[in-house]
Amino acid sequence: MNRRLTLQGPHHLAWVEEPYPTPGPGEALLKPLAVGVCGSDLHVYEGLHPFVRYPVYPGHEVAAQVLAVGPEAEPGWVGARVALEPSLTCGHCPQCRSGRYNICQNLRVMGFQAPGAMSSVFVAPIEKLHRLPETLSAEQGAMVEPLAVAVHAVALTAVQGREVAVLGAGTIGLLVGQVAQAYGAASVEVVDPLEPRRRFAEELGLRSKSPDASHYEVIFECVGNEKALEGAIQACHKGGEVVVAGVFGRPACISAGLVQDWELTLRGSLMYTFRDYQEALRLLAQGCVRVEPLITHRFPLGEAQEAFAAALRREEAVKVILEGRGF
Ligand SMILES: [Zn+2]
Ligand SMILES: [Zn+2]
Repeated sequence: MNRRLTLQGPHHLAWVEEPYPTPGPGEALLKPLAVGVCGSDLHVYEGLHPFVRYPVYPGHEVAAQVLAVGPEAEPGWVGARVALEPSLTCGHCPQCRSGRYNICQNLRVMGFQAPGAMSSVFVAPIEKLHRLPETLSAEQGAMVEPLAVAVHAVALTAVQGREVAVLGAGTIGLLVGQVAQAYGAASVEVVDPLEPRRRFAEELGLRSKSPDASHYEVIFECVGNEKALEGAIQACHKGGEVVVAGVFGRPACISAGLVQDWELTLRGSLMYTFRDYQEALRLLAQGCVRVEPLITHRFPLGEAQEAFAAALRREEAVKVILEGRGF
């Protein structure tokens, strides 16, 4: 039997057993090597994720090993260590046809609307696999997903030579800051009210500060709440840009008057596409972005409940990784 972690409702994590899956055409059977616990998993845990229905089977930040492939698939995949895009897309809506499948009209994401990777084994489309370079560890492989989120957000705007702020020194904020720096921003400041969080930024070579009256040309909102989004709008220079990368559990009331009067650009950023994954792998392999300092906790996969509890202690936890070895 396949053991799979399930969130049966808010605050209700349990292991369930299900028949061992077989990969269909175009699919691979995978064993997780490392799986990250993400802020959006915690949203689901707390009943605050706007786009899921329970039960939810979490796990979307994953490095895995290919155990088998379905009929007619390229056998060379078997044994490969991979990162994978957890997005399941329809391929025929206008967004998919234009290449922006991250906003597919029929988007389902493994770990949210489809089963994820916190299980003994799982199945995924081969077209969503990305081979891990030998030099990257499984943990780094699990961080490719959040790094691709950061790459996508930064690529939506031009940061080169501009003054950039990142609101929120969580996983996404700390990755966005590093990517913006790698892409030649004139300055990058990571803004977070919590001192222990700011220390992570400093460790990564990023300038950090608590919220103040500074203004910036480009601001990445990586928190996902009203206060941060309003803070981002207030901190823009006239004509500035806010990229909204945080996941909002609740509606936000913002100064729309400033958006209008200062001609601000407010744009959302969701997930990534194939190119963002490839770019994330390049940045990691070339050492342009560091992810190890973000990993604050490691648990065996069988101790997922403890891992969620640790991740919920948000002052001390940044990235919690579940290790698949021996599960
Ligand atoms: Zn995530
Ligand atoms: Zn589509």
